[in-house]
Amino acid sequence: MSNLKKPKVATVWLDGCSGCHMSFLDMDERLIDLVDKVDIVYSPVIDPKQFPPDVDVTLVEGAVSSDEDVEKIKLIRRRTKVLIALGDCAVTGNVPAMRNPFKREQLMDRAYVENATSPHGRKGPDKYVPPLQPHARPLHEWVDVDLHLPGCPPPADAIHFVISELLAGRMPEPSQVTRFGL
Ligand code: SF4
Repeated sequence: MSNLKKPKVATVWLDGCSGCHMSFLDMDERLIDLVDKVDIVYSPVIDPKQFPPDVDVTLVEGAVSSDEDVEKIKLIRRRTKVLIALGDCAVTGNVPAMRNPFKREQLMDRAYVENATSPHGRKGPDKYVPPLQPHARPLHEWVDVDLHLPGCPPPADAIHFVISELLAGRMPEPSQVTRFGL
């Protein structure tokens, strides 16, 4: 990465519970050091509207579950040098993939029609929910992933280790600091 300008870092929230982003925020005071060293150019915590070009490192939480997720992860891949699958949902499908044995229509009816508590939901899901893929799938089934960082969620120390190693110009080995289901 260039020494002349700060590396650009992004974080993305696909079909996950936000727990991986909570773990990212659990870096606490180390985040202050981090923002001195990098530009956070896209993230739920800063809420930009467009994923920018030429991002150095992107951490993606969650599985790919909707048509919108598919478009987004392909765009992110084109615009990112080092793409990290952040957490077990991004790495394996994990919790979102628990829906996979069921048909999409069963799932939508159950969640948005049978159990709807608002009049909007009772009208049916089509107008209100982005079209779902038949299955929730991990990132690597759609795009090349440079680094898998497992854990549910990965500990803040592991996220910090991985980012620090990348900033130092080394490709980290996450198995030193985390594992599946942590
Ligand atoms: S890996 Fe765990 S903490 Fe992260 S989004 Fe999935 S369920 Fe939530």
